[in-house]
Amino acid sequence: MEPHHVHDVLIPETDLEGRVAELAAGIGRDLDGRELVLVGILRGSFMFLADLVRSFHRHGIRTRIDFMILESYGSGTESSGTVRLARDCSIDVAGQDVLVVDDILDTGRTLSHAVRHLESRGALRVRTCVLLDKPSRRVVPFEADYVGFPVPDVFVVGYGLDYDHYYRDLPWISKVTFTG
Ligand code: 5GP
Ligand code: MG
Repeated sequence: MEPHHVHDVLIPETDLEGRVAELAAGIGRDLDGRELVLVGILRGSFMFLADLVRSFHRHGIRTRIDFMILESYGSGTESSGTVRLARDCSIDVAGQDVLVVDDILDTGRTLSHAVRHLESRGALRVRTCVLLDKPSRRVVPFEADYVGFPVPDVFVVGYGLDYDHYYRDLPWISKVTFTG
């Protein structure tokens, strides 16, 4: 890895906790009693999804949880143009209300690919929820239905997001500063 540090906290733990609870309450209101199939995009969504589902449980919302792996080829902090479905979800989504959960919406390629795929499998309704959104980076026109926090065009880690597989364990979101 290049020389860098992650000392600058962009979103502290308490802010994440509060916003996740608000998102869960809002999504619950829109569901109107229906149950939900949650599809987390691995690996970045794991921590956000884990907090979100516990909040859904507190609101009495029934969920089934599955995961998809989508890979966009590229290196370092830049993604390439191609998205590949490396692992599909196992739950039959036909006729279901689906919520796709991801860590961050950047170019829009990953989520638009995921939504198209789930619709092609016959999902009744596919909505999307992201913790972070970098609107200035969009390449594919795409907006998420639920957004935790908009962020500027900086590289962020923590709360599931990595740099070269490190820092996913940070309980907060930090900005990466490259020092080399
Ligand atoms: P998109 O397909 O929208 O360009 O890419 C979304 C994916 O790019 C995210 O799921 C995440 O894996 C990665 N990504 C985009 N921006 C960042 C960032 O600032 N930090 C990290 N760690 N990953 C990012
Ligand atoms: Mg990701």
